[in-house]
Amino acid sequence: MFDLIIRNANLPDGRTGVDIAVEGTKIAAVEPQIGALARTEIDATGRLVTPPFVDPHFHMDATLSLGLPRMNVSGTLLEGISLWGELRPLLTKEALVERALRYCDLAVSQGLLFIRSHVDTSDPRLVTVEAMIEVREKVKPYIDLQLVAFPQDGYYRSENGVASLNRALDMGIDIVGGIPHFERTMDDGRASVEALCRIAADRGLPVDMHCDETDDPMSRHIEVLAAQTVRFGLQGRVAGSHLTSMHSMDNYYVSKLIPLMAEAKINVIPNPLINIMLQGRHDSYPKRRGLTRVRELMDAGLNVSFGHDCVMDPWYSMGSGDMLEVGHMAIHVAQMAGLEDKKKIFDAITVNSAKTMGLEGYGLEKGCNADFVILQAADPLEALRLKPTRLGVIRRGKVIARSMPRIAELSLDGRPELIDSGRDYVPLG
Ligand SMILES: [Zn+2]
Repeated sequence: MFDLIIRNANLPDGRTGVDIAVEGTKIAAVEPQIGALARTEIDATGRLVTPPFVDPHFHMDATLSLGLPRMNVSGTLLEGISLWGELRPLLTKEALVERALRYCDLAVSQGLLFIRSHVDTSDPRLVTVEAMIEVREKVKPYIDLQLVAFPQDGYYRSENGVASLNRALDMGIDIVGGIPHFERTMDDGRASVEALCRIAADRGLPVDMHCDETDDPMSRHIEVLAAQTVRFGLQGRVAGSHLTSMHSMDNYYVSKLIPLMAEAKINVIPNPLINIMLQGRHDSYPKRRGLTRVRELMDAGLNVSFGHDCVMDPWYSMGSGDMLEVGHMAIHVAQMAGLEDKKKIFDAITVNSAKTMGLEGYGLEKGCNADFVILQAADPLEALRLKPTRLGVIRRGKVIARSMPRIAELSLDGRPELIDSGRDYVPLG
């Protein structure tokens, strides 16, 4: 007798009609038609059951603050940063915790159970750090939240940058961040990458930097990040977030850069929603898209995972905690619409992101944590197309969220009475 069995599931790898049995908090079996019974049985009715969505790049301290104290008029990254600077002195721990918990509720309902959030360390009060550490504890039963010490105003450019970042790490922040392209000079940027990688090596922590989030093709801090990663023996533990300057770089230079990044096993984290919204703002026409070279990086064997980055904050007035919306945008902006392309995009918001975050026990194999999401869709391609309802969200064997399927009733002569968008699709071949 198992604790839980999900029956008749389609899996992301293409298997259909599979049962998933759970004992306690772990997956005990994944096979067709398990004969044993369970205390709770859920019929997935041929829907997609996937490991939870994973967001490797978010800003939990800024989320849901849209309009405080005013809106971003130009819509640029730089106005967003200065707007956040206006809001920062007004932040209270209570309000930060409350907004973050509300976002986490939304995330759970979307089957998003793993989030890496950057936490701004620029305000020496470090109220953001205190608040996010409290949130990390509070959501632990349902969301794994990793925190990055992020010197938003610059590690060297801001008066308190160096001291505040180190204090945040002392307080228990998990990962070393940075923002080399925002330092005063290219040289300061290069020096910050080196200093931050050294801190990570000394403290035994991973690195995740906002890196080259600009349209400037000469912003080449990713090259330094890759080189310092190798120098300090941090291979596989370093992430480069955004890397939008690569979009505009010279092709010959990139032909040298990508193998260097592969050697350093850099985890690449583009943020398609934010990148298409914020980049190319100084262009008239033609306007650059600004997304990094997703296909080329994937082809070179780099681990590419997509982040949501922002929801309702000074940089982005949209967003819904739906990683399928992120993947949907990636398909368009990276022009990856082929069948194999879309499977890779789905991986980028699930297994690749789990690898970036170093998650243990993630997946749909025997022995993995019993965490999964049942979607109102048949397979990953349909999930990306429809951004469907999360019918059930299971964490460590317990249902923690459920939603009614989205079904429309039609009143049309001679036409069907109901449309279940996740049923009327006939897979090709
Ligand atoms: Zn960010």
